[in-house]
Amino acid sequence: MLTPRIFVVTGANKGIGLATVKALCEAVGSKSIVYQTARSVERGTKAVEDLAKSGLKPRFHPLDVDDASSIETFATFLKKEHGGLDVLVNNAAIAYMGDATVPIEVQAEHTVRVNYFGLRAVCNALFPLLRPHARVVNVSSAVGHLSWVDGEELRRQLADPALTVEQLDNIMRDFVKAVADNTHVQLGWRDVKYRPYMASKVGISALTRIQQRMLDQDPREDIVVNHCHPGYVKTDLTGNTGIFTAERGAVCPTYLALLPPNVASPRGEYVWHDKMVLDW
Ligand code: NDP
Repeated sequence: MLTPRIFVVTGANKGIGLATVKALCEAVGSKSIVYQTARSVERGTKAVEDLAKSGLKPRFHPLDVDDASSIETFATFLKKEHGGLDVLVNNAAIAYMGDATVPIEVQAEHTVRVNYFGLRAVCNALFPLLRPHARVVNVSSAVGHLSWVDGEELRRQLADPALTVEQLDNIMRDFVKAVADNTHVQLGWRDVKYRPYMASKVGISALTRIQQRMLDQDPREDIVVNHCHPGYVKTDLTGNTGIFTAERGAVCPTYLALLPPNVASPRGEYVWHDKMVLDW
């Protein structure tokens, strides 16, 4: 009997994550298993039950990307239950709205912790389980494009093909400190209200490119990781101000999750919502 392909989507109880689970279930049928994960058991279970009403059968597993023990429990579960993983869509994220009254240094620490370090922790735990031809999608953003970084030196560091994960972690930690000291502009970061979200997404973009370089050296064949902008989507994250539906927002992550074996491109690239590869 063929081993079922295992798909995982993070932050999938609503929005683009939920729509991606739906699209994946529709695309892959019952021979594969799609894990719809969420930090809240209640919200996640409800989302799975709702999809079941339309005949789709994702499985639920709790996963809080901001909780090391939750990540570890999920990795152990996947290993024991399936021995590996074929597709990982890193979708979970938070964003403070423009009118948020939380102090900006708290926003910076929280946003970078969940969006960048949370995603990185999930990758650390699950990458060892990726099987040959696995596909990873890191959901970034339009503001994850390098052009949102003003400082030439910072841009050079982020795009350096020799950048390591440890160096990138330090760039992210320095950003958080600089926001607290109000010195982020001197470091090269743009002074926009949503700078914590922007920096977290630039970090995810830079991380993706390091990850692909590392996976290219990996003995496991043909593992591909891309980062994408899903479009400006009507979800809670945007205060429902987007122009696309969540289903439309799921088009690009779903496309990247299902890239065929030995695809030449996109591979470690930045992909726009219409599937076009952009120069990062
Ligand atoms: P939503 O706010 O609708 O969904 C975000 C999801 O992430 C929710 O399921 C939320 O769970 C989950 N989440 C938050 N924190 C955690 C955590 N610690 N562990 C696990 N899950 C968590 O946003 P979108 O659907 O719009 O966003 C999905 C992705 O798309 C994000 O990465 C976002 O940055 C990106 N994006 C969105 C754009 C848009 O226009 N909407 C544009 C560009 C990028 P809970 O319900 O429990 O809070």
